Amino acid sequence: MNNKILDFRSDTVTKPTAGMLDAMMQAKVGDDVFGEDETVHELETKLSGLFNMEAGLFCPSGTMTNQIAIKCFTQPMDEVICDQTAHVYRYEIGGIAFHSAASVRLLHGERGILTSELIEPEINEDNIHYPNSSLVVLENTVNKGGGSCYKLSDIAAIHHLCNIKGLKLHLDGARIFNALTATGDKSHDYGQYFDGISICLSKGLGAPVGSVLLGSKDTIHKARKIRKAFGGGMRQAGFLAAAGIYALDNHVERLKEDHQHAKDLAAALLQASYVKSVMPVETNIVIFEVAAGTANKIVSQLKEKGILCNTTSASTIRLVTHLDLSPDMIDEAIKIIVNLR
Ligand SMILES: *Cc1c(COP(=O)(O)O)cnc(C)c1O
Repeated sequence: MNNKILDFRSDTVTKPTAGMLDAMMQAKVGDDVFGEDETVHELETKLSGLFNMEAGLFCPSGTMTNQIAIKCFTQPMDEVICDQTAHVYRYEIGGIAFHSAASVRLLHGERGILTSELIEPEINEDNIHYPNSSLVVLENTVNKGGGSCYKLSDIAAIHHLCNIKGLKLHLDGARIFNALTATGDKSHDYGQYFDGISICLSKGLGAPVGSVLLGSKDTIHKARKIRKAFGGGMRQAGFLAAAGIYALDNHVERLKEDHQHAKDLAAALLQASYVKSVMPVETNIVIFEVAAGTANKIVSQLKEKGILCNTTSASTIRLVTHLDLSPDMIDEAIKIIVNLR
């Protein structure tokens, strides 16, 4: 038995570091519903500047930033185009139907990655029977794709298509900094392609709470009202925004360590007899396949040895690396994985 729990369930399980807590304690705050919290304003400005967009909006969760963006960019009876694995479709409780009264057109990308060729035939013509295709949502990295990343040239082509056809383009960039780390693309080059980008501070970046929606000044003005209607207007939120600023300053550079750890785990899994295959590892997510119907059993066996992780189907298991898993802990996990049977 191990005393130390190795928690690979998600990169959301991290606790604020001492430095982050210190930054939070020192934040200058005010009532953000009155627009008077300077730390929230600093976070919004910092991120919109990084992505070369006009404005930002701090929200309690990534689900809220995505749902606000979809509400901003659609009318009831419109249709949203996304991959069938998309978080906005699978893990936001049917929020597209609930908040925006829009339908969804699901595509089948390779590991969740869409292309302009896949999207173009799925855009509805103007016809009395069809919903109006008004929005494409991309995810980068793709969670269900095992942390797969877009090429910027593919994004540019999708942007071009949306522009010609009059559709808006939103990026669910919950793990966009993982994608930037893996591809070497620059955040500054992203803004031009998207009408909205949502970014999680509480995933690999290690903040306790919060996501930011980026867009034009007009979009964010509208989004601010929708956030209020969703009940997401916050008061002295600067304490939380300070954690986000600290994360951007201190936890982006180190994401490459998480990516290396994920690759090391994948190599160990390939040596294990109970593992049938491992999805290619690009960022901090490792999804591996075991014999049909055995995923739950293997998760329980790993748990007995001190590794926490989740199944993603009856035959697949996901491990996520993050800043609360040190190199020593990864070494320990690799020993457990290799020796499990
Ligand atoms: C985590 C996540 C979100 C947002 O989730 P919250 O838990 O609401 O912050 C959105 N998209 C993707 C791809 C995610 O992984």
